[in-house]
Amino acid sequence: MSSNKEFDAIIVGGGHNGLAAAAYLAKAGREVLVLEKLEHPGGAAVSAHAFDGVDARLSRYSYLVSLLPQQIIDDLGLRVTLARRRYSSYTPDPADGSRALLVDNGDEAATAASFAAVGAPDGEFRAFTAFYAACRQLTEALWPTMTSPLLPRSVARSLAARAGVAEAWEAMIEHPIGHAISKNLGSDLVRGVVLTDALIGTFAQADDEDLQQNICFLYHLIGGGTGDWDVPVGGMGAVSGELERAARDAGATILTSADVTAVRPGGVVDYRHGGQDHTVTAAWVLSNVAPAVLNRLRSRPAEGAAAGAAAAGISAGAAAAAGNPNHRREGAQVKVNLLLKRLPELLDGSVSPEAAFGGTFHINETWSQLDAAYRTAAAGSVPSPLPCEIYCHSLTDPSILSPELQAAGAQTLTVFGLHVPHRLVTAENNEDRRAELQAAVLASLNSVLAEPIEDLLLTDPDGRPCIETKTTLDIERAVGMPQGNIFHGGLDWPFVEDGEPLDTPARRWGVATDDPQILLCGSGARRGGAVSAIGGHNAAMAVLESEPPLRNG
Ligand SMILES: Cc1cc2nc3c(=O)[nH]c(=O)nc-3n(C[C@H](O)[C@H](O)[C@H](O)COP(=O)(O)OP(=O)(O)OC[C@H]3O[C@@H](n4cnc5c(N)ncnc54)[C@H](O)[C@@H]3O)c2cc1C
Repeated sequence: MSSNKEFDAIIVGGGHNGLAAAAYLAKAGREVLVLEKLEHPGGAAVSAHAFDGVDARLSRYSYLVSLLPQQIIDDLGLRVTLARRRYSSYTPDPADGSRALLVDNGDEAATAASFAAVGAPDGEFRAFTAFYAACRQLTEALWPTMTSPLLPRSVARSLAARAGVAEAWEAMIEHPIGHAISKNLGSDLVRGVVLTDALIGTFAQADDEDLQQNICFLYHLIGGGTGDWDVPVGGMGAVSGELERAARDAGATILTSADVTAVRPGGVVDYRHGGQDHTVTAAWVLSNVAPAVLNRLRSRPAEGAAAGAAAAGISAGAAAAAGNPNHRREGAQVKVNLLLKRLPELLDGSVSPEAAFGGTFHINETWSQLDAAYRTAAAGSVPSPLPCEIYCHSLTDPSILSPELQAAGAQTLTVFGLHVPHRLVTAENNEDRRAELQAAVLASLNSVLAEPIEDLLLTDPDGRPCIETKTTLDIERAVGMPQGNIFHGGLDWPFVEDGEPLDTPARRWGVATDDPQILLCGSGARRGGAVSAIGGHNAAMAVLESEPPLRNG
C-alpha cells in the first residue's frame, strides 16, 4: 500500500468521468483515490502535442462537446468555455463536387437555396427543419432525465406524451430511425447528412432492428436538449483539466502511472506503481474503465459474468458490467489528425473554405454511400470512398496553436472516418491497415478539393508531414477502449425497461454491477457515453445516496 491514508472510494481510471466522480465525492467530504494507468489523466478527452517539435495542442481523440450538462459545470465550478459554431454542416454532392449543401444557422434563406442547389425535392428544407424540430421537442423533454434517477420506459414515454411528442418518441425510440428519415426526406444527400448522427462510432445500418443506431442518434441530439456540438476552447484537454483541478481542489488524490491489475471482492484493488505492487481497500470501487476491462480485472470471462448476472437476478445496467453483449460491441471508425499550412480550396467555388470547414464537413456520406460502405466493411474490406466527417478546431478556437502558427495561417483538421469496424484490424495487419485507412481518408477528402490535401500538410522539424492516424486498435492500446469503441461498448437507452429493478441507488442511477461495492462511473454506465461527465456524476450520486456515514465523521 502506497500510503497509510484510508479511502472511502477508489476510482479505477482517471478519464474525465473518473475525475468528475472524484470531484463530486471529494466535495462531499469523501476520501477519494483515483488510479490512472497513463502518465496523465483525461483518458480520451485530452489535448496533445501530436507532432514532435510543433506547438499545436490537438484534441487528439474527442473534439466536440454536447453532452456536458450545465448543472455539472456549475456544481463543480468548471471554468470551461464552449464555443458555438455558426455553420451546422457542409456536404458536397458526390455526383458533382461543384455543388454542395451548406446548412447555415445564421442564414435561413441561403440554407433553403442550398437545398435547391443540390437538387433536393421541393419542400425538403421545410421537412428537414420540421424533422429536427420534432426531434428537439423530444430531446428537450428527455435531457433533464440524464442526471436524475432512471425512469422506466413507460414513464419516459408518458413524459414524452405529456410534452406532446408521442410521434417523435415513436420515430426515434420505437422504430428504426431509417424509417423516419426516409419517410420525411427525399434527397439521398440530405438523408445521409441526417443518418450520420446515428452512425458515429457505431457499426450499424439505418434500418437495423436492434435500434443501436437509434440510441446513437438520440445521444447525438440530446445534449443540452438542443444537440448543439460546441468547440471546447483550449481543446478537449481544457475540459478534463478543469475536472482534474476540481477534483484536486476538493482534496481527491490522483495517482498517475498507476496500473490497476485486479479488482477483488470486498472493495480490494491491486495496482502497480513505481515498479511495485500495491493493494488498497475502500468501501466503494468506481470503475471508469470499460465494462469489458472491469471484467478482465475481476478475472471474469464475459460469458461467465453474464451467467452470474442472470443468476443474481439483474439485467441491463447491472449486466453492463457483467457480460451484456451490447458492451462488447466493436468500435467502427478511423481518426485522423492533420495540421495544415492553410485551409484547402474547394471544388465548389461558391462557398468559402472558412464556411465549409466552419461546421461539420461531410464527405461521401449520402444515404446510399453509407449503405454501400456498411456492406463493403461487413464483407471485410475498407469502404471506397470512405465516408468521412471533418472538423476544423482552429477556425473557432485558434488558441490551440502557437502565435507563430496562428500568424502563418495554419489550421487543424480532425477527420472521423465511418464504417471501419474493428474486425478489419488485427495486431498483425495494424500497420498496413493504418496506412490503407490514411490513404482512404486522404482520397475521400481530395475527392471534394481543388488541390491535393497532401500539398498543404505542415512538416515537423525533421521534415515529417503533420498527420497522425489512429485505428481502433491504436485507440484500444492508447486509452484502453475495448476494440476501439469510443463509448466503451454499445450505448444504452437513457431509461430502463419496465420491470427492471430500481431498488438500490446504484440501479436507480444506472451504475450497478453484480457486486454492490463496485459501480460503473465511465462511458459504459447507462447514460455515460461521450464527453459528458454524466457517468461520473451518476456514480457519485449513487454513492452519496447509499452512503454509510462518513468514515471519520
Ligand atoms: C477518436 C474518438 C473521438 C471521439 N469524439 C468525441 C467527441 O467529439 N465528443 C464526445 O463527446 N465524445 C467523443 N468521443 C467519446 C469520448 O471521448 C468518450 O466517450 C469519453 O472520453 C469516455 O470518457 P471516460 O472518462 O468514461 O473514459 P476514458 O476516457 O476511456 O478513460 C478511461 C481511463 O481509464 C484508464 N485505464 C484503463 N485501464 C486502466 C487500468 N488498468 N488501470 C488504471 N487506469 C486504466 C485509461 O488510461 C483512461 O484514462 C470520442 C472518442 C474517440 C476515441
